[in-house]
Amino acid sequence: MRRISILFLAALAALFVGCSKESSQTIAYETANAVKSPEIIEVSDTVSSENATQEADVEPVSEVASDSAAEATTETAAESDSPYVEGYQKVVVSGETVLWDGYKAWEPDSVLDIWNMKLSDFGEYFTETFEVTRDSYKLMEGTFMETEVVHIHSENEGPCVYIVGAVHGDEKAAWYAAILTEQATISCGDLYILAPANANGARNDSRYVVARQDLNRFFPGDPNGNEAERLADAIFSDIADKRPSFVFDLHEAIIMTSGRDFLGSTYIFTKLDGMEDLFFNMVFATQDGTICHNEFSINGPGPDGSVNNTVTNELRIPTVTVETFRGFKIERRVQDQLDTIQFVLDYLGML
Ligand SMILES: [Zn+2]
Repeated sequence: MRRISILFLAALAALFVGCSKESSQTIAYETANAVKSPEIIEVSDTVSSENATQEADVEPVSEVASDSAAEATTETAAESDSPYVEGYQKVVVSGETVLWDGYKAWEPDSVLDIWNMKLSDFGEYFTETFEVTRDSYKLMEGTFMETEVVHIHSENEGPCVYIVGAVHGDEKAAWYAAILTEQATISCGDLYILAPANANGARNDSRYVVARQDLNRFFPGDPNGNEAERLADAIFSDIADKRPSFVFDLHEAIIMTSGRDFLGSTYIFTKLDGMEDLFFNMVFATQDGTICHNEFSINGPGPDGSVNNTVTNELRIPTVTVETFRGFKIERRVQDQLDTIQFVLDYLGML
């Protein structure tokens, strides 16, 4: 089945070649549509600001009709000997047992003392050490949304990568991995890390900035708008100012639907322009087991008002959103985020 996934990607690649005489914009949209239909169903992509329902407190999660490593088997909680909650089923997904209510996964205890942890607590990450300088600065300084950007700089000329860790505060592996990456060094270029992007959400274990303001629907933001708009503006302006060559937007996903195999771990793009090779190599690396614990599916485009969509379309900077599945144990999710970040920095020649 892995071969079919590769063939599917190869077909996508062929689509690119076949369309190469058209404008890049057209190609990107066609490709995004090709990805979504019929192989992938977008489960939820409808969170709006004020009227968002509890059910919308989720990431868009894609599902691919392949068996991958994730053939789900279920048993009812009553039959198990574990502390499973009534109404939840045990589901084996990509080798790990998770709990599922038919819609959302049950997130295991995911709180880590991340500020006092090391990269080496999660494995062999960024083991080579290069000479760099570090500085940091605040966004939204003096407000309850204040957060910090760490800048790692090498004297050697190279790419600039900007990592946005968790515009949704409750997606812990996203900002944990970003915080850990602040310990890395690079051989060339510049690395900017903003984490947690939604500091108030992270503090309150909430998706939102305040109330039901979903930061990832307010980009590019407004300096005179509501809280989420002001924060989005600060983040977007900082990215525009740094002009990175690549942007990471780190998230997590928790929805899972029945009748299909699970692929909650996802890479999302809005356009592949300028990162075609990088993107497909990253996906292939999850398929052949080079990185991450399971295959990642692909999906796109990012929703209107999201970091991914806005940075791609307005700044024309290649952007990848990483989604890890919140039904898995936190260490696994952090590792998959770190695997992906390390793979891309290595691919760009920065390690
Ligand atoms: Zn998210």
